Amino acid sequence: MLLYIHVPFCRSKCRYCAFVSRPLDMAEVEVYATSLPLEIRAFGKKLGRPKVETIYFGGGTPSLLPPWALSRIIPELVKHFDIHPAVEWTFEANPDSALDVDYLRALIGYGVNRLSLGVQSFADADLQFLGRPHKAKAAMAAFGAARQAGFANISLDFIWGLPGQREATWLENLKTAVRLRPEHLSCYGLTVEPETPLAALAAAGELELPLEIEQGRMYVHGAEYLEEQGYLQYEISSFARMGFQSRHNSGYWEGRDYLGLGPGAVSTLGGVRHENPRDVREWAALAKTGRCGIGGVALTREERVREFVMLALRTAKGLRLSLYRRLTGIDFLKENEGLITALRQNELIRISAGHLRLTKNGFLVSNLILERLRY
Ligand code: SF4
Repeated sequence: MLLYIHVPFCRSKCRYCAFVSRPLDMAEVEVYATSLPLEIRAFGKKLGRPKVETIYFGGGTPSLLPPWALSRIIPELVKHFDIHPAVEWTFEANPDSALDVDYLRALIGYGVNRLSLGVQSFADADLQFLGRPHKAKAAMAAFGAARQAGFANISLDFIWGLPGQREATWLENLKTAVRLRPEHLSCYGLTVEPETPLAALAAAGELELPLEIEQGRMYVHGAEYLEEQGYLQYEISSFARMGFQSRHNSGYWEGRDYLGLGPGAVSTLGGVRHENPRDVREWAALAKTGRCGIGGVALTREERVREFVMLALRTAKGLRLSLYRRLTGIDFLKENEGLITALRQNELIRISAGHLRLTKNGFLVSNLILERLRY
């Protein structure tokens, strides 16, 4: 099983953010650090001390959790879950709260072995536009601190397609990242999420993004550059040096069971999906009753197939056609014959070794392709 822990606190809210996160409030951290052990205990009991192969502390900004909060939460995890000796244990951090080598060493001491650092850009103007609380210099310093602390598996997150960004400036960002030799890179295109300050800017006609053709060049040439440098693309936004693909995220894309704890966290266990209340105090009240994970919704067969196809086509491995046929009794290629011919002619998909996969250009327009395919 994959285990996800949501930490809903951030230094301040970024302008593009639609995640469950709120500005840090120590009274709420206290509530969180008291309630999470209750939820951990409840699920550990309910699932019979389940085996956990990957753990992911995401957010929000997990690195804002003070040491006293970690010392309440992590021992409970170890006690109530059967953690695999070769667990992949990721902790997300933002540069401004990952500068303390002792804090990072303490994480390693707990068993964390992968750090995911939200760099987003090495240009201060981009960071300011995004509303990030750190400067590029802090990202460099945090990376150095993480290495000094002993992290041998570090992932850096970036956002491309920002206002004023060009292919050359995006590639410059990637070159700076590659010089650091992280094990993994995640590169997300900027998306304007509803009800964010960025959406308000767009609605006012004040958001000027790079032209689509320029964005296309950023994505495809960026991915080619990373592959030349030894970072293989294994998913739409993910690149890794050999052996450093995220096992946790790969588990999601393979449709494995996952348990999500913390406010707003989602779980899918045995085909039943459950979402925690997003509000910290509402979630805490539920954790106190011990009635966690009640009221999930069973996914229909159609929903499961749909997710299976969508997730498989995000990956470089692609969709295993024989597995699709086994699940649905339908021949995917025949069902989509005309569209598949057109996509192949335009080099947006490739079919080989029994898999249908999107090319880099295909990844770029994956939403449009997924909308048109029948499955
Ligand atoms: S750091 Fe991440 S989770 Fe926090 S506000 Fe910014 S984008 Fe949202």
